[in-house]
Amino acid sequence: MTRLTFYGGVNEIGGNKILLEDDGTRIFLDFGMSFGKREEFFEEYLMPRTSNALGDFIEMGLVPNLKGIYRTDLVRLLGREPKPPVINAVFLSHAHADHVNYISFLHEDVPLYCGHTALLILQSLNESKTRTIESEILDFMKRPRTRRRGEPPVVRKVKTFRTGDKIKIGSLFVEPVHVDHSVPGAYGFIVHTRKGAVAYTGDLRLHGRRSQMTRDFIEKAQKSRPIALICEGTRFREKHRKEEKEGEEEVRKECLKEVKKTRGLVIADFNFKDVDRVKTFYTIARETKRKMVVHLLDVFLLKYLSQDPALDLPQPDDPNILIFLPKRQSGTYREDDYQRAERQFYHYPNTVTAKNLDQEKVLLCFSYWKIKELIDIQPLSGSLFIHSLSEPFNEEMAMAYQRLKNWIDHYRLKFFQSHCSGHASEKELKEIIKKINPRKLFFIHIQPPQKKYLVPLDQEEAEKFRTMVRKEFESADRQVIIPEYGKTYEL
Ligand SMILES: [Zn+2]
Repeated sequence: MTRLTFYGGVNEIGGNKILLEDDGTRIFLDFGMSFGKREEFFEEYLMPRTSNALGDFIEMGLVPNLKGIYRTDLVRLLGREPKPPVINAVFLSHAHADHVNYISFLHEDVPLYCGHTALLILQSLNESKTRTIESEILDFMKRPRTRRRGEPPVVRKVKTFRTGDKIKIGSLFVEPVHVDHSVPGAYGFIVHTRKGAVAYTGDLRLHGRRSQMTRDFIEKAQKSRPIALICEGTRFREKHRKEEKEGEEEVRKECLKEVKKTRGLVIADFNFKDVDRVKTFYTIARETKRKMVVHLLDVFLLKYLSQDPALDLPQPDDPNILIFLPKRQSGTYREDDYQRAERQFYHYPNTVTAKNLDQEKVLLCFSYWKIKELIDIQPLSGSLFIHSLSEPFNEEMAMAYQRLKNWIDHYRLKFFQSHCSGHASEKELKEIIKKINPRKLFFIHIQPPQKKYLVPLDQEEAEKFRTMVRKEFESADRQVIIPEYGKTYEL
């Protein structure tokens, strides 16, 4: 018996948790956090209680109510008897929170398989971020937390793979193949089951700098003559991202033009895990004789990802980089104000603070959350703010965006928008599906249009949307399925 069950990525962008069963073998493809579902019930000051272990997460449908998959300490806290895991492995497509974060809850004996670069990202986050129950991926502290100091965390078993590997898990052979996405170390999978091959795209695109990697995946998936393809559909019928550029080179060119015209400070707001974007702004900084300023919290990503020679990233002590030390409690930049892990960079000769920033000679990489540092920096007139992310596509994002705009107005910054997406466009999706040509197409990571933010989907409208998607991709020998949450599909 070979079957698929979807516990996330269903009628939503992200939160992928796909269970693949083949005779007695069971694996999960991704086990991510579903932002949308979480926001339906929780927000900043209304968080799932960790005192209730997994209880709040299960009750509100943030993780599936399945036996034999969760950590023994959390199962015990629920008053259940822990058992050995019924899952053989979890395969991670890439290190974005909506694909990786809830691995945190999985049984400690379930091995995690991921790409080498994805592991570097996880290591960097592990070192730089404060531990929370929703992101303890590589290791976790047993709950309830004891007062004993120095108790070591439980370390998860991690195995890394690369393209060309064929990993045997019970009756399955899992073949990871690199793809291009807005984070390095992204993979699709071709899983060879007893019934035939099942391909899974993860998140991918064909317009990035390394589109050949996606083409390699398409070619291998096509050759495997898959009985099923699980495909992301993020940008299907999107209207909100029409302003996006169709390639990184376009982003580089138009941002360079703006930076060249600027006399004051340049601030670039982008996701630092997007290595292509990091390199775009690094190049722009060099071409305009500015130094790229990296916030202390992002330096960890540079430290780890520069270890991967294929990415060709500068190291934290690169002569063209400055490390920004934010002001902490004492307000005097004392070493002991910083977290232990942060202090490794404190004595670097290339650190800089708001006080000694030479505004006309730097390009500041600051995301939304770091904008408050502008109070100490006091940008010169004529300064530029580049928003290199998606424009808002729901009300919560729109609120944050407005708040950001208010900061920009307050400091009279010039605003410039430039971004290209990590996901395949509708045209690219059609090409990918046509080439791979699966017998069954499972569309996930796709969201029917929502009338109002946080208001549950109108079922009638959602069904109309699904019918439209099916019509678009169905053919005489292809069935299109937009899976339902928790429903099992026989292959
Ligand atoms: Zn992603």
